[in-house]
Amino acid sequence: MKGRFGEFGGQYVPELLVPVLEELDNEFEKLKKDNEFRKELDYYLGQYAGRPTPLYFAERLSKKLGGNAKIYLKREDLLHTGAHKINNTIGQVLLAKKMGKKRVIAETGAGQHGVATATAAALFGLNCEVYMGANDAKRQVLNVYRMKLLGADVRIVDIGSKTLKDAINEALRDYASNSKETHYVIGSALGPHPYPNIVKYFQSVIGKEAHAQIMDAEAKMPDYLVACVGGGSNAIGLFSGFLKEDTVRMIGVEAGGKGIASGKHAARISGDGKKGVLHGNLSYVLQDNYGQIRETHSVSAGLDYPSIGPEHAYLYELGNAKYVNITDSEALEGFHLLSETEGIIPALESAHAIAYLKKLVLKCKQEDVIIVNLSGRGDKDVAHVAELEGVKI
Ligand SMILES: *Cc1c(COP(=O)(O)O)cnc(C)c1O
Repeated sequence: MKGRFGEFGGQYVPELLVPVLEELDNEFEKLKKDNEFRKELDYYLGQYAGRPTPLYFAERLSKKLGGNAKIYLKREDLLHTGAHKINNTIGQVLLAKKMGKKRVIAETGAGQHGVATATAAALFGLNCEVYMGANDAKRQVLNVYRMKLLGADVRIVDIGSKTLKDAINEALRDYASNSKETHYVIGSALGPHPYPNIVKYFQSVIGKEAHAQIMDAEAKMPDYLVACVGGGSNAIGLFSGFLKEDTVRMIGVEAGGKGIASGKHAARISGDGKKGVLHGNLSYVLQDNYGQIRETHSVSAGLDYPSIGPEHAYLYELGNAKYVNITDSEALEGFHLLSETEGIIPALESAHAIAYLKKLVLKCKQEDVIIVNLSGRGDKDVAHVAELEGVKI
């Protein structure tokens, strides 16, 4: 069925949004096949965002972890604005412009997706409004100011829990009433159909490049792919390049927070999530016995979301990908490990993927090749890490 990954995904939205999403789906499918659009997208990904990103052999990290496997890093951290999110926002804002939209809106939790959307909106000259929960805006004053510098209006959402899920609800309401001139830029591979497909399409450039790069470097397919999973866009972007290679094992790393038993985590698949509907699609969702959405926790804001993109739920059920979790303190270890062995300070989200390597290499044979998606750089997290570790700077 359209928009389904097995039983997952779908389009659980108010009647009002159905024709809007259908138009988006049609326009997207048309533009995907349009050579001019592809050329323009490639131009901005190359000349503006900094693609292709290197696939870097992390020799000292590989040695430090016992030398059992060769670890390669896909360097999405080197992109403009510091993470893979720009691949999606450039794609969607260009799509909006081609559809004749004058305005884009977005939701943001910690502000990363808001900044990436505001950046692309400035690049293409579209108006931009970003919905953000009042509590999030208070915690992330720097990103609020960044968005304003980029010419965006930040709409503070002062209802409900005053965080990301309330911001998403407001953005959906805005989209439903203003869709004629407005495109809603969703930030990860989730939401109602066709969003999971759109976001995957724009992030698939990661996997496409990595496939060619590893062939050049090793003349064989990797044995493992490892990526952190918030909504799941950087992971599905990498995985998508290898879905046809049945020897490649794919591992998604969720936020284990303070441990599964504590209930303070965001491990939807590897923890105690159950099937449910959130933000327009069916997937694994952290919920209580009454189906109410649970509070989540992670040291990294980007992994702190109660649901996971529907294609990951499907890959898990098929047994094609495996999902694990890494706690806050393990992630902090990973953060230091990569900084000290390679001179690369990773985003706390990506540090979850790095931390998992310590466990993975125990199972590896000498010639095994691992590709880790380094989804973002850690500049944004430095002050937070110092505070967590009681360091005064
Ligand atoms: C937002 C973010 C993530 C999580 O989002 P996905 O959609 O799961 O990729 C991971 N890493 C970084 C650096 C991020 O900014």
